[in-house]
Amino acid sequence: MSGQPMFGQMMDRPLLISGLLEHAETTHPGTEIVSRRCEGDIHRYTMKEAAGRARRIANLLHRFGIEQGERIATLAWNGYRHYELYFGVSGYGAVLHTINPRLFADQLVYIINHAKDRWIFVDLTFVPLLESIREQIPQVEGFVVLCDEAHMPDTSLPNVHCYETLLAQEPDEFVWPEFDERCAASMCYTSGTTGNPKGVLYSHRSTVIHAMSSIGQEMLGLASTSCFLPVVPMFHVNAWGTPYSAAITGAKQVFPGPGMDGASLWELIEAEKPDLLLGVPTVWLMLLNHMDSIGKKLESVQNVIVGGSAAPLSMIRDFQEKHDAFLIHAWGMTEMSPIGTVNAHNIHMESLPLEERYQLQAKQGRPVYGIEMKIVDDDGHDLPRDGEARGRLLVRGPWIVSGYYRNEDRSSFIDGWFDTGDVATIDANNYLHIVDRSKDVIKSGGEWISSIDLENAAVGHPQLTECCVIAARHEKWAERPLLLCVRREGSQLTEQDVLDYLSDKVAKWWLPDAVVFVDSLPHTATGKLLKVNLRTEYENYLLEQA
Ligand code: AMP
Repeated sequence: MSGQPMFGQMMDRPLLISGLLEHAETTHPGTEIVSRRCEGDIHRYTMKEAAGRARRIANLLHRFGIEQGERIATLAWNGYRHYELYFGVSGYGAVLHTINPRLFADQLVYIINHAKDRWIFVDLTFVPLLESIREQIPQVEGFVVLCDEAHMPDTSLPNVHCYETLLAQEPDEFVWPEFDERCAASMCYTSGTTGNPKGVLYSHRSTVIHAMSSIGQEMLGLASTSCFLPVVPMFHVNAWGTPYSAAITGAKQVFPGPGMDGASLWELIEAEKPDLLLGVPTVWLMLLNHMDSIGKKLESVQNVIVGGSAAPLSMIRDFQEKHDAFLIHAWGMTEMSPIGTVNAHNIHMESLPLEERYQLQAKQGRPVYGIEMKIVDDDGHDLPRDGEARGRLLVRGPWIVSGYYRNEDRSSFIDGWFDTGDVATIDANNYLHIVDRSKDVIKSGGEWISSIDLENAAVGHPQLTECCVIAARHEKWAERPLLLCVRREGSQLTEQDVLDYLSDKVAKWWLPDAVVFVDSLPHTATGKLLKVNLRTEYENYLLEQA
């Protein structure tokens, strides 16, 4: 194209996290935030109060001598104090490092040192965890326990302070600074199953755009009339960005604190009546089991967003048929802030017979505007969007990582695209279906078998609570599926029963070569099956049995 570009004449205001909070305080001051605290009780306050306390945090950081870009860590459940820190720390210009307490101790030590966290704000629950690694994180200057004086623990942590006492000493006036919207706002480390965790540094701009794009009706569907319960932790990819989305929309938040089991969740749901729940499949399995055991219905819940791992068909069906709740399948990654695709109710589902709609809901959905995605073969050539071709899934967009924090590894970055490590199909309407992690897919005689699809078919058996499929070595086919299952208590289910159950659900050549019953399955810090350990343990199982 020839000629000079003609620029628009619009203001160039930075997209900052403090701007989200100011909007929330002025537009939704009365919006309620309800939290179950570690102390055991329920706490309530308003968005206006949250904003005031976030400003006190900023004053506190100033008093601590924190400079722009320095890292302040949290080790905390979903709750109002964590919420305030999200805005107080990032708004001040520091970087909020939300630590996943479920990481192994050596990973915790690694990330705290790697991020160079100056202070750690910690929930009562995790004080012993920090005490156990204190010697290995010497550069941390001090610790703030998220409680009042009455609950301060007797701890060996040095330079330890009480959060409520500190906040009470600060004024709630603070003028949020303005800076470049590309500055880092928060960070999260991947909970990789091999090697050290890798840091992802979100910017103010990426966070705000991600929140703006993901609130729409066919996305998270948030509004001032919504009430949602994020079970997805604030230490795992910022609870899918929902703290920020709530600030934009004024949706009421109900934070579960440490109570993630079925009974505690139900107690909160019954009391606060959220219409939207968000979390990983394992949490919903616990809730569904609990609801079965007490014979009650989730009356208030209209939608349940499920991400982090694939939602089995049986879960989609259970929510719909037992609870009248629509399961919205979503897919994303730590590296993607995290939302990539969402499968909310839409025009394609309107006229579909129920069973076909369930099949469509089992896909991971369509991209949020801003996300571009494509699948490629092993040579990097684009594959068709026909719902059949399977390839490596690449993505790009304004809230996708462009490089890991203080890490030279560029192997996931290809010509401006990020290689997700997932294998997927994409259909003509841009629906994504995650087939597998590329390292988990089973290559049987050159053909691929999806471990996810097999697991999800098997877990539909009412006597199985969890299933995991791994590639086991095979003399003839190179790899064959091996199914590891956890039986419901008291169940006498046999290998043959499981194979019979699967026989009309998957292709014959997908049927596992063996079914092994185990007491439990290992999980990563974000609740995904820890397949790497199982592979090591069981990779020669079929050869040994032959
Ligand atoms: P994390 O960075 O811990 O959030 O993990 C991201 C990975 O989780 C993705 O690359 C997928 O392999 C997996 N994942 C996330 N959501 C889904 C989903 N809805 N279905 C299947 N896998 C998922």
